[in-house]
Amino acid sequence: MNLSDPVESIKGVGEQTLKKLNKLNIYTVEDLLYHFPREYEDRSTVRKISEIEYNEVNTIIAKIGMLPQNIKKGRQILTKVNLRDDSGSLFAVWFGQPYLKKQFQLNETYLFSGKVTYKYGQIQMESPDYEKVIEDKNIFTRRIIPLYPSTYKLSQKIIRQLIHNALEETQNQLIEFLPLWIRKKYQLADYNYAINNIHFPESDHSYFVARNRLVFEELFLLQLGLMSIKKQMEQERKGFAFKPISELEDFIRGLPFELTKAQQRVVDEIKEDMSSDKVMNRLVQGDVGSGKTIIAAIALFIAVKNNYQGVMMAPTEVLATQHYQGLMPILEQFNIKTGLLTGSLTKKQKENILKQIAEGDIDIVFGTHALIQENVAFKSLGLVITDEQHRFGVRQRTILSDKGNNPDVLIMTATPIPRTLALILYGDLDISIIDELPPGRQKIDTYSVDSSYRHRVYQFIKKELMSGRQAYIICPMVEESDEQELQSVLSYTEKIKHEFEGYHISYLHGKMKPKEKQKIMEGFLNGEIHILVSTTVIEVGVNVPNATIMLIENAERFGLAQLHQLRGRVGRGKFKSYCILITDSKSKVTMERMKVMKKTNNGFEISETDLQIRGPGEFFGTRQHGLPDLKIANLYKDISVLKKAQEACLEALNMDPYLEREEHKLLKNKVNQLINEKIKDLSL
Ligand code: ADP
Ligand code: MG
Repeated sequence: MNLSDPVESIKGVGEQTLKKLNKLNIYTVEDLLYHFPREYEDRSTVRKISEIEYNEVNTIIAKIGMLPQNIKKGRQILTKVNLRDDSGSLFAVWFGQPYLKKQFQLNETYLFSGKVTYKYGQIQMESPDYEKVIEDKNIFTRRIIPLYPSTYKLSQKIIRQLIHNALEETQNQLIEFLPLWIRKKYQLADYNYAINNIHFPESDHSYFVARNRLVFEELFLLQLGLMSIKKQMEQERKGFAFKPISELEDFIRGLPFELTKAQQRVVDEIKEDMSSDKVMNRLVQGDVGSGKTIIAAIALFIAVKNNYQGVMMAPTEVLATQHYQGLMPILEQFNIKTGLLTGSLTKKQKENILKQIAEGDIDIVFGTHALIQENVAFKSLGLVITDEQHRFGVRQRTILSDKGNNPDVLIMTATPIPRTLALILYGDLDISIIDELPPGRQKIDTYSVDSSYRHRVYQFIKKELMSGRQAYIICPMVEESDEQELQSVLSYTEKIKHEFEGYHISYLHGKMKPKEKQKIMEGFLNGEIHILVSTTVIEVGVNVPNATIMLIENAERFGLAQLHQLRGRVGRGKFKSYCILITDSKSKVTMERMKVMKKTNNGFEISETDLQIRGPGEFFGTRQHGLPDLKIANLYKDISVLKKAQEACLEALNMDPYLEREEHKLLKNKVNQLINEKIKDLSL
């Protein structure tokens, strides 16, 4: 049996079971063997009935003492079986499984494992697993038992049996692919041992040893996959070597502010990348408000002054327009022609701008997804920038890059990714971090209150408006349907009108026509609109430094990362800013989140905590991240293994960059398989 064989080649997998397995994304023997337990139950101790522990799972060996009975209990059938050993007796009970009655022979001996309670003067074992006693070979009892995650209508019993069958059929035939030197150096268990013991551990110790190997394997392969992609790109793709531009000094000096030290450092890193003939593949990571836009502008400036075109893509029209309008004036002073390409242009406008891009009349194009459409062609594209990259997939980034001949690539993100994770997530990118905010920024004071404070909060907003500031209100959204989204902003706006007499309130939601959105954003930017009621469409990038209040209704609906992003819309200028979180939820997770928001403004700290509160599974489930599902590694707990895996990866590639040696052959196959199946589609 091969790992790549279809899962139906395993004994016990019929048509129905196959369908259910497919729903769990299990198609091959390998998929099944890599469906790891979520936890275990220790049934290794067999007890006498007289020594049973109540309210716990106990395992006993017992004889069937009387013929089983099916008893009607309301609308259900209770199956009751008397069990005895030489120390006492009890009843095993099952609900709704009348066929069990026929499973047991009087006076036969079986193993039973189940929770035991003392009820109505009787000792009961509830819905126990049972099986015939087989010397050394029991699957469900008398050992540590695996419990599997979300088995989609497959009972634990069936999946356990199937995996057991798969292990029997592949027994010790799995071919080790980790080279011996790595297994020795990092003291990793053998492949067969690990797979066997992760499902049916012989002891606690063998479980730890097995898990350690599999965690290492998972992280090591992922690292190796990402690093080989990076190597390939560097190898195959020769990029442009941009020349230093003396005018750049004037450009930077002409800005209304001085670059922070962190910005300066990142600019230097980018300059160095751009001047080399390797293709730049750099991620700029900086908390909300750290000043990433101007860094993009500087890189674009260098490209254009080298007679190449540049493009900057943003996830929303509001943001693309903001970039265009903000940067156009300063770029124009240096004779750089800019353009904006979004979905809402008229056909005529679009044709016109497409022509200018193709003929090289426009030097820098800002825009949305519209930029990656087929009909967009550049004359000589030298630099591609994506802003708020977590909203785009690798594919979209690649399509845009393919419009040039190996252009340099710069990717911007405010999503604060814990450093340890960045190592994995961005294994194929170089990373620059802006770890400093522009001077004069004050801490955004954050409060969380319940809705009984709403009126007082409004009074506070009024005070800010009176001193000339502006406010955002994120209103709750029942569900993500267009109709309700509209309803909720509309009715909220109506409701607060009388509270804020004399002030101009407007609203924004995702399904509005881009033109309307644009008008509203302009109104808010130039101060005509005082309060902007909005859904989360303003979540990323929007920059209105005069806004000082962010009020978030139903704050429990949002994750920490999103709350932090929303809060980042204020505190972007010299004024003291406030974030007010309204929630009536008293759930533990909500309270925890509110506490973190109040305590810190630091995105990295917040994401670390997020990871702790929610655990990596959920953390990665959010759209903020695009890692493939990790089957066993826990990026929070397994940091030390991650570091070792990384070290091993570097060492392997150093000694054998293309994994061409005989001892690395199988490893190479594994890595290629991973790249093809998983890594290609990541949205990093
Ligand atoms: P983000 O990193 O969130 O994209 P932006 O680039 O939008 O941040 O910058 C946020 C605000 O900070 C803008 O108003 C921008 O003009 C301003 N800014 C950027 N760099 C500096 C700096 N070095 N000194 C002062 N203000 C700056
Ligand atoms: Mg930005």
